Amino acid sequence: MKKPKLVIVPRSYGKYAHNALEKLSHVFDLNYLPMNNLRNDMSDNEIIKLLNEADAIIIGGYGRINRHIMESIPSLKIIAKRGIGLDNIELNAATELGIVVTYARHTMEEISVAEYTVALILACARRLVEADKKVKADKYHERASLIGIELRNKKLGIIGFGAIGRRVAQIMKNGFGMKVIAYDPYVPDEIFEEYGVKRMDLDTLVSSSDVITIHTPLTPETKNLINEERLRRIKEGAIIVNTARGAVINEKALVNQIKAGRIFACGLDVTAKEPPEKDNPLMLLNNVIITPHIAAFTYEALKRIDTAIAEDLIAFFSGKRPIRVANPEVFNKPLRFKIKV
Ligand code: NAD
Repeated sequence: MKKPKLVIVPRSYGKYAHNALEKLSHVFDLNYLPMNNLRNDMSDNEIIKLLNEADAIIIGGYGRINRHIMESIPSLKIIAKRGIGLDNIELNAATELGIVVTYARHTMEEISVAEYTVALILACARRLVEADKKVKADKYHERASLIGIELRNKKLGIIGFGAIGRRVAQIMKNGFGMKVIAYDPYVPDEIFEEYGVKRMDLDTLVSSSDVITIHTPLTPETKNLINEERLRRIKEGAIIVNTARGAVINEKALVNQIKAGRIFACGLDVTAKEPPEKDNPLMLLNNVIITPHIAAFTYEALKRIDTAIAEDLIAFFSGKRPIRVANPEVFNKPLRFKIKV
């Protein structure tokens, strides 16, 4: 019998989880896309051509799978997102079309992303990247210009108090003695109490935090959430860190506030356009650290995530319900591939 075709978009998929690849190869015909695909600037038709006749797809942060693409690939039965953020998959369309979407939930991905967030906060507060550049540019003697900020007793404002936000809160509260406040309209009071974190409205959080860190998904509601008006109200000398999605912050307004000297430093693992264009003004600012969307990239997390993806895909094609389903409502619809639910 012909094996189902699995198209694997992230080139590094399985590199740190050989068992996962081995198991997948027994069930699927594995197809890695050529280098530098899928790109965000590709047309739908180019994407359709690349993915054509796929029964299953593993997709990372690049490229998009929208309704038109799903409709144009009738063989497609399941999409596995190698991550948590689902903003590059049109989830409602998948549900309506009977396509199951799995993601990296329940793989403890929050551990790596939270630790990376903490690394960015510290790098901003102690100007690590600037300091490294000075030494390597033979400017060691300028060390007195590299004065940092202590975190103990400072206020940390967390926007989006989900898995990652909560882990960041634990580390910064217990490890660094920060006072932690958070904004999240969808989390009940009990969770705030459990973590010893004070619930705050967004405007007060923005104007009173010494460090702001963003952990919401990108949705129509969170796009441009940190807009020009809110950025103008940020406390003078604050640090902003974003490991969620670039479009949550208005980058133009952020640049203006940094240039006006109102923001101490900024750590961004994500930008509105990825990779950022060379002439993006953020790229020219010394107190802005930009990294290439690597917060989840640890050997441990990738091994767990890649193994989980393989388990879910194999379960699905053996007729079972996968564990990490992002659109469970799909099981109320006629599935493109029938399984026991
Ligand atoms: P999560 O679903 O556990 O938490 C997200 C939280 O945001 C939820 O508690 C939700 O209630 C809250 N939220 C939703 N809309 C909001 C709004 N309008 N205002 C305030 N809060 C709102 O997700 P998570 O695991 O903590 O991940 C958060 C995001 O981080 C993901 O959606 C993804 O985009 C991003 N992420 C980035 C990387 C990376 O490599 N940089 C890796 C993993 C996740």
